[in-house]
Amino acid sequence: MKTLLFDIDGTLIATNDAGTHALSRAMRVAFDITVPNMDVKFGGRTDSSLFRELLSLNGLQPSHDNFETLCKAYKTQLPASLACCGGTVLPGVPDLLEKLTMQDGVKCCVMTGNLHATATMKLEHFGLSDYFEQIFGGDFDEDRRHLARRARLFLHGKHVQGSKDAARQQQTIVVIGDTPADINCALDINAICLAVCTGHFSHQSLELAGAHAVFKNLNDVTQVVDWLLRQ
Ligand SMILES: [Mg+2]
Repeated sequence: MKTLLFDIDGTLIATNDAGTHALSRAMRVAFDITVPNMDVKFGGRTDSSLFRELLSLNGLQPSHDNFETLCKAYKTQLPASLACCGGTVLPGVPDLLEKLTMQDGVKCCVMTGNLHATATMKLEHFGLSDYFEQIFGGDFDEDRRHLARRARLFLHGKHVQGSKDAARQQQTIVVIGDTPADINCALDINAICLAVCTGHFSHQSLELAGAHAVFKNLNDVTQVVDWLLRQ
């Protein structure tokens, strides 16, 4: 069995900063902050980590209650932000997912720093949700490597359970993402990593981070499918 773990932002879609827009509105509504300080790095982070930093940056305790309040407000704001920011599905993605989901022994999942609920909203908004069997979201783990370990544990458990002869079958995990954080978490769980330059990172920086392959984008569907199936 081969499990493909796709990142969302910068890999499958570009949202034109809909997430930042929604998060800024959520900070205003939930905590009555007129102009929230949004000066945090977004790429490759989990929302669990990002939201806590944002709370601190705006003079709020990064407590469980404040985190939950912000999550709730963000989930409320995101649909309108997705609608107004006019993002797009990245080149080749629907065709690629269509072809991959037709392959025997290949399972497409999402591993993202987004909260599970907002990952679902994004995939549904861009018409991609039906391609994925499972979403591993960034609700619980501040470190993306911990998210990857949780995903691997889950997949391994499910694989062994569902396999009549687990010893004979191998489970390969491939992470597809656009940031060094995606690559780091893939390497941490001994997974293969395909990096794409459709986010904010250069070919060189993704190569230096240790990706097994770096593609400009996912548009050459035949090349991407061939590469993924060879792993
Ligand atoms: Mg990304």
